[in-house]
Amino acid sequence: MMQQKHKTWLELECSECQKVFMPKNQGLWYRVIDGNILLTCPACYEKWENQFEVVNAEFSDSPGYGLPMVTIYFKNGQVLGPVGYLAEQTHIEIPGYEIPMSAKIKIKELARVFWQEKEKQKLKTFRLVDTFDEQYIYAETNAGDQYKIRFKYGRYGEMILDPNTKLPEYVLRQIEQKMRE
Ligand SMILES: [Zn+2]
Repeated sequence: MMQQKHKTWLELECSECQKVFMPKNQGLWYRVIDGNILLTCPACYEKWENQFEVVNAEFSDSPGYGLPMVTIYFKNGQVLGPVGYLAEQTHIEIPGYEIPMSAKIKIKELARVFWQEKEKQKLKTFRLVDTFDEQYIYAETNAGDQYKIRFKYGRYGEMILDPNTKLPEYVLRQIEQKMRE
């Protein structure tokens, strides 16, 4: 292999805007396509990154293609999903989609909050009181919210919850689940 003896100045050219640029931080953004290294200047990267400013995300643990699912809402009104995701230590990976690391980190933060909230909503206590003079369900969530719902039996022996009791949807769903068990 021939050694290059003299030093050569390499100008960095952005593959997107074709401008010569100076690298910002300590590194360079690049992609390798067909063996070519394509550089992206900080301005173009930022422009791309800004398109992916995440404002909200909804998660679901019912798997789609074997993965838990997420729907991502971007500031520019775009919605991605529901798509499968992989939870990494510091970020969320969306296989098959190229999105900036800043967005992936933000989605991870949202996931933490989402699942913490879900945990708080879970019923820690569920008690069915069915005596001669009292019929009610007592439920308490991990967050400490308590609910007492009267019920009676219908003509086919089915339980009918007092329709006047106001319950959050997530509590009602869990009660229905328990009643089926
Ligand atoms: Zn550029």
